[in-house]
Amino acid sequence: MLIKPYNFPMTVMTNLPQERRVVTAIPGPKSQAALARRTEATSGGLGIAIPVMVESASGAILLDIDGNQIIDLAAGIGVNNVGHSDPEVVDRVIAQIQNFSHSCFTVAPYLNYIEVCEKLNAVVPGAHKKKSLLVNSGAEAVENAIKIARHYTKRPAIVVFEHSYHGRTNLTMALTAKNMPYKEGFGPFAPEVYRVPMPYPFRWIGDPSSITEDAIEMITHKIEKEIGAHNVAAILIEPIQGEGGFVVPPKGFLPALQKYCTDKGIIFIADEVQTGFARTGHMFAVEEEGVVPDMVVTAKGIAAGLPLAAVTGRSEIMDSVHASGLGGTYGGNPVACAAALGVFEIIESQKLVERSAHVGKILGDSLRALAAKYPVIGEVRGRGAMQAVELVIPGSKEPNTDAMNKVVKYCQQKGVLVLTAGTYSNVIRFLPPIVISDELLLDAMSVLDDAFASL
Ligand SMILES: *Cc1c(COP(=O)(O)O)cnc(C)c1O
Repeated sequence: MLIKPYNFPMTVMTNLPQERRVVTAIPGPKSQAALARRTEATSGGLGIAIPVMVESASGAILLDIDGNQIIDLAAGIGVNNVGHSDPEVVDRVIAQIQNFSHSCFTVAPYLNYIEVCEKLNAVVPGAHKKKSLLVNSGAEAVENAIKIARHYTKRPAIVVFEHSYHGRTNLTMALTAKNMPYKEGFGPFAPEVYRVPMPYPFRWIGDPSSITEDAIEMITHKIEKEIGAHNVAAILIEPIQGEGGFVVPPKGFLPALQKYCTDKGIIFIADEVQTGFARTGHMFAVEEEGVVPDMVVTAKGIAAGLPLAAVTGRSEIMDSVHASGLGGTYGGNPVACAAALGVFEIIESQKLVERSAHVGKILGDSLRALAAKYPVIGEVRGRGAMQAVELVIPGSKEPNTDAMNKVVKYCQQKGVLVLTAGTYSNVIRFLPPIVISDELLLDAMSVLDDAFASL
């Protein structure tokens, strides 16, 4: 049965009632048995956020194999922006897989790869001519952006930021900041990667009134004195940091960085893997301050969970590589491209950019009300449907990992899935499907209130 649960002017269809329902302990008996099999069969190197097994998912609800309906404020790490199992995506995927599932774009090309690239070239910021490349994952897209930037500039160095996250392959581990769990024991890492300070307003040691100027001064000093600006191929930055704890740089910082890049012939690459596709109340987070990157890397929200990622950039940069210098067996798989075209359609028809700002208002207002009540919340930050709370020992800025773990666990027991983040492992982040109903989001916020009250 298809029902229409949303009061926002949307017509998204779901096949699970959009309500929280907890019918067993979490994990329930069936999930417990399955988790034992998980431990037996799968690598111990894998993590787990919520100890249940998913049976199906629809809209913003996960149904587990014990019959619990869990409010999903993770969306598969900011992937299911259009909600789970929307027919606009599902129907296109089924039609495509019945038609053909693979020919390899660099062997025998097909149209929907081109259509996804045309869409990306149109929606990525900037009036200049753009071209795109499709790959399988965010990390692979970041790797390709750097290959292309180095090839174009004929320079070796890449500049990245404290608290950044760019993936788990060898090069992207080098680009990622946090050692545990991402890098510990996995080196040696790729060379010619230089890390510079990130203006993290909540934890900035200097004068908060000159944070942008001071950060730019520290960064450019490091580039010019330690690397040589003429050796830098690219500066790579997440416009709002994801795994690092939803760190929002101060106003003016990204435009100043972009200007510096232009002055020095450095490619400005925005990693919009977590912030893209209507997540932050814009199609892309850089739009907040009118920043136009030379290259934009996308993944997560692009195809509602089918593996797809992209690099979109100035055509002279994207075309600087010799033919057959880029590619891969599965990159831009036609089934994933079909899903992406469904996602583009839903973002437009359901006005998900505006919807994201609306979700952000509910989330932000709710979280700020909690912060006023519970001094363990040191800061509320984020933008649109990408918001977080950073937890501290009350009266200080000392990270409070224990409180984070307790709140997350409490929420899980009551049927609400939230994710953690942060260099200091003390951030709870909220990445709901952007189609989540007001009622469901407010219900989740009342559970969160109880969770903080229980500390
Ligand atoms: C998740 C993420 C990546 C890596 O994407 P994968 O698809 O997991 O390889 C890169 N950058 C950012 C900002 C991310 O959030």
